[in-house]
Amino acid sequence: MALPSSKSFDNKLSLESRCRKTSLLETLNQHFDNEKIIFFGSGLPSPDLFPWKELKSKFYSKSVLNTSKPEAAIDDWATKTNSNPFVEVHSDAKALSAGLQYGNAGGRGDFLEFVKEHVKLFHELNYSDWGVAATAGTTQAWETILRIFCDRGDSILAETFSYPPSLSTAQSQGVHIHPVPMDENGVIPQKLQHMLENWQHQRKLPKLFYIIPTGQNPTGSTLSNERRKAIYKIAEEYDILIVEDEPYYFLQMESYIKAKSNRKRHDQLMSEYKRSLKKSFLSLDVSGRVIRLDSLSKILAPACRLGWIVASEKILLHYLNLQAVSIQAPSGFSQMMVLELFKRWGQDGYARWLMQLSGIYRNSRDVVCDALIERLPSGNFVQFTAPTAGMFFTIHINLSYLPHFDPELGAKTYEDRLYNKFLEDGVLLVPGSWFTCSPDVLYEEKKDTFQSCQIFFRGSFATVSFHQLEEGAKRIGDCLGKMLNTA
Ligand code: PMP
Ligand code: PLP
Repeated sequence: MALPSSKSFDNKLSLESRCRKTSLLETLNQHFDNEKIIFFGSGLPSPDLFPWKELKSKFYSKSVLNTSKPEAAIDDWATKTNSNPFVEVHSDAKALSAGLQYGNAGGRGDFLEFVKEHVKLFHELNYSDWGVAATAGTTQAWETILRIFCDRGDSILAETFSYPPSLSTAQSQGVHIHPVPMDENGVIPQKLQHMLENWQHQRKLPKLFYIIPTGQNPTGSTLSNERRKAIYKIAEEYDILIVEDEPYYFLQMESYIKAKSNRKRHDQLMSEYKRSLKKSFLSLDVSGRVIRLDSLSKILAPACRLGWIVASEKILLHYLNLQAVSIQAPSGFSQMMVLELFKRWGQDGYARWLMQLSGIYRNSRDVVCDALIERLPSGNFVQFTAPTAGMFFTIHINLSYLPHFDPELGAKTYEDRLYNKFLEDGVLLVPGSWFTCSPDVLYEEKKDTFQSCQIFFRGSFATVSFHQLEEGAKRIGDCLGKMLNTA
């Protein structure tokens, strides 16, 4: 059965976006490769003048990706499994001529073809006219989306605690952010419904919901499929676009099991891994209401500055009109290097890489959780949540258990003190208030998710060795223990 086409959301475009036209110069590109035409069209520098004539890169070979489960660091894993775990690729002058030339704003065709195939492997697309465009990472893509849809004074929704650069981008564009209550499992659909039913703000309803559904930053929470469905339904009812920012989507892992003997860590099959992934909002979408942002920052390397957006062609048109006049296109070097790797790995190799990465992060997650259980003071003073995706864990502290706790001082004062005490004791955790849209208001008013005697800290287990994870947990535990006993 033929799929329906997407809905138009042009009624939500910002004034800036409505004023922007597709550049006529962009239409010249289609004639560039036509040998019958002498192309006087654009100011393209001659490739003969590009100083680079060859580019060599060396990366893990596909055979490494087919090995059994990784032990700890990828390097160990690679060297243990294969005498030559690397493949070397030489990009010659011809490849460089094309790769370093001006190109499509949305990325080179062969890169986009790979990405489209990958998207089809992991998501269900329920409308016909969807597409992808390469981005310079999610930070840039989100900034672009905000400009496409929001004018000063418009409203958007975001989780109560969210990724600070994404929030400040909106704030500096004069966009009001309305925090949606969440618990340890992410956004609470009933609260979202309630919030929209009782929308008393003098403003129009929010245009976008910026959400980090998986391995949320900073809370580490992952939305269940049921919550995702409920949130999508509410977004439909109130005609809100969902922007799912998913840098940690592929780092989903089994739940934490406290008893080590009960951890059945067998080599995962690709079919199991795929089945275990939560349904993306993209897979639930039937009308082009969802804009999905993927990033290679946590998957390959952050300085690739490369990712992609998946959206309806109607929305991509506006996205590309703006990208063409801002970054113009993601870096050609980056696209070339990543594409070489993708071509050598193929779809199955890349999927295996994603699955292996999730296993590596799961191992670190287990080590830090084991150590925290052992080291944190027992009782209700401190609790931590073991994540099922991504790289963040959170430690929740109920200040009312402190002897001589003075609510008049405010939770923020205690949070600042504790941050400094952690630092003095040689461990760095990030205070939860740093992730709110308006920290002062949040700590003083009694909000559902953040009562005045409760604070939390975010930790990342991504770059720290197993030994440091254990030592860090000890320092956190000792510091909190001292506070409990001497405050
Ligand atoms: N400004 C002018 C006047 C140009 O002619 C061009 C390229 N044709 C650009 C800007 C675009 O520069 P860049 O490739 O660095 O974005
Ligand atoms: N969005 C979230 C939720 C993140 O946690 C991060 C990185 O920490 C980013 C975006 C940044 O992504 P990128 O490097 O693709 O701009």
